[in-house]
Amino acid sequence: MIVNFSFSTLVQFSQQSLRQINRFNRSSGYQHLKTRNISSSSAVMSSSKFQLADKYKGLEKNVWVQFIDLTLKHKPLNLGQGFPDFAPPQHVTDALADVAKDSNVMLHQYTRGYGHPRMVAALSKLYSQMIGRTINPLTEILVTGGAYEALFACIMGCVNPGDEVIIIEPFFDCYEPMVRLAGGTPVFIPLRPNKEGASHSGDFILVEEELVSKFNSKTKAIIVNTPNNPLGKVFSRKELEFIAQLCKQHDVLCIMDEVYEWLVYEPYEHVRMASFPDMWDRTITIGSAGKTFSVTGWKLGWAYGPEYLMRNLCTAHQNSLYTCVTPTQEAVARGFEIELERLNTDESYFRSLPKLLESKRKYMAKFLSDVGMKPIIPEGGYFMIANWSALEPHAELDKTYSNQKDYQFVEWLTRVKKLTAIPPSAFYSDANKYLGEEYIRFCFIKEDANLQKAEAILQEWKKTIN
Ligand code: PMP
Ligand code: GLN
Repeated sequence: MIVNFSFSTLVQFSQQSLRQINRFNRSSGYQHLKTRNISSSSAVMSSSKFQLADKYKGLEKNVWVQFIDLTLKHKPLNLGQGFPDFAPPQHVTDALADVAKDSNVMLHQYTRGYGHPRMVAALSKLYSQMIGRTINPLTEILVTGGAYEALFACIMGCVNPGDEVIIIEPFFDCYEPMVRLAGGTPVFIPLRPNKEGASHSGDFILVEEELVSKFNSKTKAIIVNTPNNPLGKVFSRKELEFIAQLCKQHDVLCIMDEVYEWLVYEPYEHVRMASFPDMWDRTITIGSAGKTFSVTGWKLGWAYGPEYLMRNLCTAHQNSLYTCVTPTQEAVARGFEIELERLNTDESYFRSLPKLLESKRKYMAKFLSDVGMKPIIPEGGYFMIANWSALEPHAELDKTYSNQKDYQFVEWLTRVKKLTAIPPSAFYSDANKYLGEEYIRFCFIKEDANLQKAEAILQEWKKTIN
């Protein structure tokens, strides 16, 4: 059976669990115990020894936590956090089902800490072809708990206090706290529109002189996310070559977040920094099974690069998660083995998924325009940002909710119109949040019926405006 894990399922699931917990508390007399402990627990809570460790202070806010809570509260149509609301490819879910029943009982036990042998073998086979060099599965690949942990291991394993790390804005939000946690200093550079009325993610560019000015002797690394979340920009070969040349000139590490590597729309092309001359030596590339196979809940990712850099990541990984879930690694490995056979054919999921998404992208762009927003057409990924400022007079924003206008708008849209999204200012540094405030980010890897519902909600709103 294929379980369609929609957000309403999640809400039902959490409500059901809450009821069960309450029932358990009543029947076990735990309620009484809880009341009795309140005074002692408040004394404990005020002890300075139990406060958040200093290194995490200032990092408490998290856009995902905030908007998932809001979604649970208002139960809107969810075009917020990025995940598909349809089934993953059947060969991948079948693989997981087969693994569960496999006669090899060891598939339920710990596997190799740096990556399950079958998984790293499959990754090596795939990326060796992509990069044009043989990647050693045992020394040049690390399997992680999602791309998130790969980023964490990379930043923790490579960045020292005092190091500067260049982050291109808008950026996937966790880069900044991770760099700060490592004691590093993030140095931000925004992608800037190259013309009035930008309407395409390619209209947002790195200003070359500005980028040059960010590099100095303290620069340890630059993080490049292509295709970019939330903008959908796919960096061109020329843009990446410019970055590469600066990395070589200043002896800088290049961290490539390529989780949306297979989600690029024609005529654009995903270009891999690690395949550039001399760049393998200073590049770590990060990927995600969640994005590759539409299984975000499996939280499986990886990083690859030269052995001496991967050792840094492995050290961070073995001192945190240490080893990832075995059955999902085995299933993803089997999934890749099938995709390797189909590579560059119409059967390939890497070809069929972007094709499917292209029509959703077109549909979303039209209904957002129809309602008076100005969408930025993404070249890749499954998010679309849209300028909503023309609609501001028609939304009753709660100014107490946040200092950021886009947070207020998403809160209003969620609470009142029952449609949720993500505020893009979350993807900017404090100084540059204003660049994201006129935009809203919608996720379009959703069933057509749900995109139609979103359109209907916005159309209903439009009727009240005219
Ligand atoms: N990088 C980017 C750009 C992302 O959008 C995400 C979210 N999927 C991640 C990394 C983390 O991916 P994962 O879910 O595999 O941890
Ligand atoms: N990458 C996904 C997004 O941008 C999920 C992020 C997350 O859950 N932290 O929506």
